[in-house]
Amino acid sequence: MNKQNVLILGKGVSGLTTALQLLRSGHQVTIWAKEPCGQHPHTSLKAYAMWVPVTIAGDARVERWTDETYIELEKLSHQAGTGVVMRQIFVLKQHYDEPWYAGKFAGFRHARPEELTSQYKDANVLESAPVIDPVVYLPWLEAQVLAAGGKFEQRAVKQLSDCPAEFTVIINCAGLGARALASDDKLVPERVQVVTIKPNGFDQVVIDDDGPNKRACIVPHADYIKVGAYFDGNHETLQVDDDVTKDILERCRKMVPGFKADPEDVLSVARALRPERFLTRVELDLQALADGRKVVHNYGHDGMGYLTSWGIAAEIAGYLA
Ligand SMILES: Cc1cc2nc3c(=O)[nH]c(=O)nc-3n(C[C@H](O)[C@H](O)[C@H](O)COP(=O)(O)OP(=O)(O)OC[C@H]3O[C@@H](n4cnc5c(N)ncnc54)[C@H](O)[C@@H]3O)c2cc1C
Repeated sequence: MNKQNVLILGKGVSGLTTALQLLRSGHQVTIWAKEPCGQHPHTSLKAYAMWVPVTIAGDARVERWTDETYIELEKLSHQAGTGVVMRQIFVLKQHYDEPWYAGKFAGFRHARPEELTSQYKDANVLESAPVIDPVVYLPWLEAQVLAAGGKFEQRAVKQLSDCPAEFTVIINCAGLGARALASDDKLVPERVQVVTIKPNGFDQVVIDDDGPNKRACIVPHADYIKVGAYFDGNHETLQVDDDVTKDILERCRKMVPGFKADPEDVLSVARALRPERFLTRVELDLQALADGRKVVHNYGHDGMGYLTSWGIAAEIAGYLA
């Protein structure tokens, strides 16, 4: 394909990463989103935003996207101002099993006995994996897009066919907004409550995957620690629940005995909506508008929007090359 005049809908992690990759490939890129320049969508902003591989039966592409994203994020961790750092990540387990990435990822190991409390049988340990501070990373991505010649406009579209004819390719990175734009009822919100607490020197990521403090999670960033989580399915209101906050703090304290997460440590509490879909919709060339223009879909990333962002952007750039 020749160089295209691309319109990207959405400026979360999916839209911004795709925009930057396409600008680097020489395309013209404009982004339309509901937020103005300098503001970022709630879902991408409130994420833990760590690189922890997941298994998605039925979508082999996730593995490739995950691998490719690691390479990009690891590079960014050496660059000042990106908000990406490499941290040790513990995924605590009730059973000893080999994750798919055990033989592939050099930094993988199982936990040593002295690293576990009696609550857990094992942990999948990533010695050094990317953890992204969205509060720093999203503005950094936006600045990169602007510096590379990308344009932003605060504008929402009602339907894909409303996108002006000057744009030769439309890329739908609208997160949950894609439900209406693509008439996709497979896309649903998963509501999550997370809590931001003061930093206290703790510098590992710890997650209880399936154990007694299930879905407790501690994610340290430079200026704060995000702890979670409470998932309660398909709800759309974002009002926080104080009892849930207490429960989150308690599960984190139990998961890591001695971890300081008391009510006086709380800086803020948020609910956010993860865009859940079986499977992530990355579709190239499948839908064309009535006038023949291409639409690329890039949405429905569940808890993997950061984990897969660069791999997906590279796939889209490859398709438009
Ligand atoms: C608590 C929490 C923890 C998470 N932790 C992780 C993690 O550790 N690792 C990970 O990889 N992922 C994680 N995720 C998931 C990740 O945050 C999402 O997958 C990702 O942010 C989705 O990004 P997005 O750009 O696709 O959508 P969004 O960030 O929702 O952005 C959507 C964009 O589309 C725009 N838009 C919507 N409708 C329209 C329209 N009609 N016209 C124009 N623009 C429109 C919006 O304005 C917005 O800019 C987490 C999520 C949550 C909530």
